Amino acid sequence: MARIVMKFGGTSVADLDRIRAVAARVKRAHDAGDEVAVVVSAMAGTTNQLVGWCQALSPLHDAREYDVVVATGEQVTTGLLAIALQELGVEARSWQGWQIPIRTDNAHGKARIAAIEGAELIRRMQAGQVAVISGFQGIAPTGRITTLGRGGSDTSAVALAAALGAERCDIYTDVDGIYTTDPRIVPKARKLAKISYEEMLELASVGAKVLQTRSVELAMNEHVRVRVLSSFGDGPDSPTAGTLVVDEDEIVEKETVSGIAYSRDEAKITLRRVPDRPGIAATVFGALADKAINVDMIVQNTAADGTTDMTFTVGKADLARAQAALGTLAPQIGFAELLTDPDVAKISVVGVGMRSHVGVANTMFRALADKAINIEVISTSEIKVSVLIAAEYTELAVRALHTAYGLDAG
Ligand code: ASP
Ligand code: MG
Repeated sequence: MARIVMKFGGTSVADLDRIRAVAARVKRAHDAGDEVAVVVSAMAGTTNQLVGWCQALSPLHDAREYDVVVATGEQVTTGLLAIALQELGVEARSWQGWQIPIRTDNAHGKARIAAIEGAELIRRMQAGQVAVISGFQGIAPTGRITTLGRGGSDTSAVALAAALGAERCDIYTDVDGIYTTDPRIVPKARKLAKISYEEMLELASVGAKVLQTRSVELAMNEHVRVRVLSSFGDGPDSPTAGTLVVDEDEIVEKETVSGIAYSRDEAKITLRRVPDRPGIAATVFGALADKAINVDMIVQNTAADGTTDMTFTVGKADLARAQAALGTLAPQIGFAELLTDPDVAKISVVGVGMRSHVGVANTMFRALADKAINIEVISTSEIKVSVLIAAEYTELAVRALHTAYGLDAG
C-alpha cells in the first residue's frame, strides 16, 4: 500500500478506448490498496489545436486569454477519466488547478508553481476517492487561470507528488523507459533500470524528449522518485517496469557512460580573424544576449598574427537573427569573415561515473576517429562530453559510441 501519483500523457488518453484502459490501470492500483492521484494531459493533438486557434485570431493575443483557452484540454480529460472510473465502480472526482488550488506566479503561458494545498486531496484519497487532476494549469495570485508551458503536466505531476508526500510519481507515456540511446538509431539500445536526476537532466537538455526538463529539476530538488513507463501493453504492472529516475546514491553500479544523446537543433557560426584584445568576446556574446539568443558551445584559437578564430553554436531557429546581429558588429570589431553552417549535430555522452573514471573523452575521440568523423567543437561538464560533427554522420557516430562504451545489448 502506497500513496502514488500516476500521470498520463496525451497519447495515453488520445481516445475513449485509451481513457478506458487508463481507468482500468488506475483501478488496479486502487484495488491493490494504493491511494491514487491521477494527473492527465489533454488528449493528443488538442493543445496544438487550441494554441492554433489563439494564433489564428491574433498573433499577439492576450496571454491571460490564451491560458483560458489552452487549459481546457486537460479539463476535458479529467472529466472523461472520472466518468470512466465511476463506470468501473471506482469512486473518483475531477479537480482543476484552481480548485485544489495549485498556486502559480503571474507568468501566463509559462507560469511556475509556487504552492499546492494538498490537505483536502489527502483526506479524500485516504477515504478511498481517486483524485483526477488537470496537469499543465494553476491559478495566479490575481485569481486567473495560468498554464505552465508546453509539456507542463510532467511538472504538475512531480509537484503534486512532492506536495502529497507520494512514494512515487509514475509517468505513463508512449515509450517504456529511458534508453541508453535512441532505439530507432541503435536497435541494440538498452532500457535503463535506473538513472540519476543529473543524468536525466543532461539527457533531457541535449535532446532526449521524454520528460519536461523542469519536471526533472523539480524532482531532483524535492527528491521525488519518478518512474517513466509505457501506458500501452496491458499486463499486470510489474514493479520493475520502466526506468526509475532517482538520487545518484541509489544507483550502486555507476556506469561510466549511461546514455548517448544527439541533437540536430544547433547551427555553427565562425568569426574569422577577430582582433585578439580584451572585450571582444564580451561584445560578440553581449550582442547575442541582447537579442535573447542562447549560445551553447564555444571555442577560440589564437593565431600567431594576433587574431583569433571564434567558433560557437546557437539554436538553428536563431541562426538568421544571430547572423544579422553579428553583421552589424563587423565595422566595430573588424573580423575578416562570418561563416555559418546549419548542417551540424551535437553528440553527447552522459554519465555520473565520469566523475571517477579517466579516459572517457578519449574513448569518444578515438571511436569517432576510427570512423573518420571530424570533431569541430568540444565542450564538457562534470558528467558530460559533447562534440559537434557534420550532421550527415549523426547515426554513424551514435552507433560507434554506443559500441565503444559497451552499451550494446548482448
Ligand atoms: N497539454 C499540454 C501540452 O501539450 C501539457 C502536457 O501535455 O504536458 O503541452
Ligand atoms: Mg509530455
